[in-house]
Amino acid sequence: AKSLGGDRYCFFEPSMNANAQQQMQLLRDLRLALERREFLLLYQPKFDALTMALTGVEALLRWQHPERGMVPPDQFIPAAEKAGLIVPIGEWVLDEACRQMALWRNAVEADWTVAVNLSAVQFAHSGLTQLVAATLARHALEPRYLVLEVTESTAMRDVDSSMTILRQLTEMGVHISIDDFGTGYSSLLYLKRFPASELKIDRGFVRDLARDTEDAAIISAIVALGRTLNLNIVAEGVETSVQQEFLTRLGCTSLQGYLLGRPVGPDLITEPVPQLTS
Ligand code: C2E
Ligand code: CA
Ligand code: CA
Ligand code: CA
Repeated sequence: AKSLGGDRYCFFEPSMNANAQQQMQLLRDLRLALERREFLLLYQPKFDALTMALTGVEALLRWQHPERGMVPPDQFIPAAEKAGLIVPIGEWVLDEACRQMALWRNAVEADWTVAVNLSAVQFAHSGLTQLVAATLARHALEPRYLVLEVTESTAMRDVDSSMTILRQLTEMGVHISIDDFGTGYSSLLYLKRFPASELKIDRGFVRDLARDTEDAAIISAIVALGRTLNLNIVAEGVETSVQQEFLTRLGCTSLQGYLLGRPVGPDLITEPVPQLTS
């Protein structure tokens, strides 16, 4: 097997504190995780706000560690990014999500999309467009079934190069979603030029929606903007029916959150959405 990521974490002081030791152990484990097949994807549904039809699923990475159990992404993705390991891990995620989507297409003629989160490191890594094209081809998956979620801050890091990459992907037929929208510093002018088809309103704005009139105003503004630019507007982190009603009334087109569906294994994603029999 080729070595992953090089020796870039060897800058630790000789007198390492417990935290640094832990970080090094984490990296050692992470390097082995791919070949030991310890990663898996859960899928969280996105629903049409008005019809509640399943419109897509978002692939969310999990690490099943032999001793630590299920490790959430926030606990290893930052380290994987620093060590460059996110590139091979991200390739696995893309491949696995496309493989699963092709299965859904074949088994139930699924008409929903699968979304994959891209890290800023992957986004900056050369050859992303070729990787996506090759992965789709390998699974004979039509590009329109794939959504790539890129955070607003990733997209804004180097605007010119982002535009080029996003345009190439869009021309291929892949959909682009701008994730965590509202937390970065997009200029509206850029947003108009970004070839995206979806905006995801950050969970932070949804959380206090019912109590915080500013959050409601911000969401209204994002919806108005998104509508003008003909974008799908997804609210994430919907946990209560009050939030659901609010967001639907404000004009969000899709909803995602624990209230409507938690991240689950692929076997639990079905269409039509299971209804309570009454
Ligand atoms: P994200 O892309 O913003 O994903 C949404 C996160 O919110 C997920 O956490 C999801 O489980 C959680 N969530 C969904 N609905 C609710 C809700 O109603 N309430 C609350 N409190 N949380 C909700 P998760 O799976 O732990 O992922 C965290 C972050 O890790 C993701 O944020 C994303 O930035 C990153 N991530 C996950 N999978 C991947 C991946 O395959 N590649 C990369 N590069 N990043 C990933
Ligand atoms: Ca996301
Ligand atoms: Ca998000
Ligand atoms: Ca987030």
